[in-house]
Amino acid sequence: MPAVLDIRTLVLIYVGISIGQAVVLVYLWSVQRNYPPARDWAIGSLMFAIGLFLFALRNQAPVVLTEIVSNLFLLPGLMLFNFGIVKATDRKPPLYSGLAFCAVAIAVVAWFKLGSPNYPAGVLTQNLVFLTLDLFTAYACLTAKTAKGNHTFRIIGILFVVLSAAVSWRVAGGVFDLTFSFSPTLPRLFWIATSLITFPMITVLLTLHTSQRLQEEIHAQARHDTLTDAYNRRAFIEFADMEWSRSVRHGYPLSILTVDIDHFKNFNDQHGHQTGDVALVQVSKSAQAALRSSDIWCRYGGEEFIALLPNTTMDQAIAVAERLRLSVESTTISSPRGSLSVSVSIGVAERSPNHSSLSEVLAISDAALYKAKATGRNRVIADGGEE
Ligand code: GH3
Ligand code: MG
Ligand code: MG
Repeated sequence: MPAVLDIRTLVLIYVGISIGQAVVLVYLWSVQRNYPPARDWAIGSLMFAIGLFLFALRNQAPVVLTEIVSNLFLLPGLMLFNFGIVKATDRKPPLYSGLAFCAVAIAVVAWFKLGSPNYPAGVLTQNLVFLTLDLFTAYACLTAKTAKGNHTFRIIGILFVVLSAAVSWRVAGGVFDLTFSFSPTLPRLFWIATSLITFPMITVLLTLHTSQRLQEEIHAQARHDTLTDAYNRRAFIEFADMEWSRSVRHGYPLSILTVDIDHFKNFNDQHGHQTGDVALVQVSKSAQAALRSSDIWCRYGGEEFIALLPNTTMDQAIAVAERLRLSVESTTISSPRGSLSVSVSIGVAERSPNHSSLSEVLAISDAALYKAKATGRNRVIADGGEE
C-alpha cells in the first residue's frame, strides 16, 4: 500500500488539522467573548482535538486511554462544537439530552471495548453518535432562518450532509464488512478525507459568520440612539431620503410628526436628570407602540422625536399623532418619588407636490409644533393650524 494511503498518517494529519482548527477557534472566542457560540466552538474543537490525539495513540498507549478517555473528549467535544453551530442559527440545542446521549454512548463503547471486547461494535456506536450529531446540525443549518449570513449556514449545512454521508458509508462498511483495523478500507479513507477537507472549511465559514455578525451589530449600533434605542438622526436621514424618493416616484403620500416633550427642562429640574432619562425611554417606547411597524421612529435630538409615516395622508397622520399623544399621556414613569407622567406636543405635515425636499416638510411640521406649544401644549397641530 503506498504511504499516502497509510491510515495512521492520515489520522495524524487529521489530529494536526484539528489542533490548528481549535487554535483558530480559541482565538476567535478570545476576540468575541460575548458571543456564546464562539465559546462552544472553541471548547468543543479543543476537546475534539485532544480526543483525536489520544485516539491516534492506538496500539501504542494503554487501551483505557485510547479507547475510553479519548471518547470522553471526542464525543462531548463534537457535540459542543455542533451545538455551538446550532446556537448560531438562533436555536436552542438540547444540551442536557445531548450530554445524556454522549454518556450512554461512552458507556456502551467502554462496554464493547473493555467488558466484552467487540471492537467493531464499539466503533459502530461511536460513529452512530457522530452521524446523529452531524445530521442534526445539517438539519439546523439548512433550515436556519437568520436574516443575514443565511448562505453561510446553508454551505455549512451542505458540508455536514457530506460529512454525514461519509460517516454513514463508514457505518455501513462496518455493518457489512466487520474488518475494523488500521487497514485503508475505502469508507474509512473517504471518511477521513472528507473530515480533513470539511472541518477547516467549516472553521473558515464560522469565522466569516462571526465577522458578518459583528459588522451587522456595529451597523445597527451606528443607526440607533443608545438611550432610547429609537433610530438616530443619521438613520432618519437615510430613511427619509429613501421614503422621499419612493413617495415622489410613485405619488404615495408621506407625512411627518415632530414630537417634543412638554416642559421637559422643568421635569429634569424637579426630578433629576436620571429620572429624565427614564422618562425619555418610556416616552419613546409608548410612542413607538402607537405607530405601525412600517413607520420610522427616531430621536432627532434632546427630547425631540420625529415619526416618518410612509403611505400616510394628513388626516391619517393626525389620527396617528392623536393616538401617540394619548399613549404618552397615559404612560407612567416610575421614579423614587412615585409615578410621574409627561405630555408631548406634536406638529404634523404632509408632503405636497410643490415641496422640493423633505426639509421643507420638516420646517412646516416644526412650525406646527411651535403653534402647539404656543397654544397650550399637550396637543396636535397640523400644517393648516388645526387639530
Ligand atoms: P417645551 O415645552 O417648550 O418644549 O419646554 P422644554 O423645557 O421641554 O424645552 P427646552 O428645549 O427648553 O428643554 C429641553 C430639555 O430637555 C432641556 C434638557 O435638559 C432636556 N434634555 C435633552 N436631552 C436630554 C437627555 O438626554 N436626558 C435628559 N434627562 N434630559 C434631556
Ligand atoms: Mg420640550
Ligand atoms: Mg425641545
